[in-house]
Amino acid sequence: MISFRSLVNSAKLTISAFFKKNGQMLASKVTQKERWKICKKCEFYKQRGRFLLWRKPKCKVCGCYLDWKIKADYLHCDKEKW
Ligand code: SF4
Repeated sequence: MISFRSLVNSAKLTISAFFKKNGQMLASKVTQKERWKICKKCEFYKQRGRFLLWRKPKCKVCGCYLDWKIKADYLHCDKEKW
């Protein structure tokens, strides 16, 4: 089940990414790849189910969808891993 908090976090990320698509608010591709590598090895990485939004991996700490979180340059890992 999707929590309200994760929906709010994801909505914020999506709106920010939409409006800042060509700005520096998006992390570089290199940074995104580094973040993704760290998250995939993290104990708080949560692979989801098989359908639509439930398929997207999430962070167990903040509840964010990781494929969106790693793209936002202004966000950071709550466990200070990146
Ligand atoms: S954001 Fe941080 S705590 Fe969450 S999965 Fe990635 S590395 Fe782990």
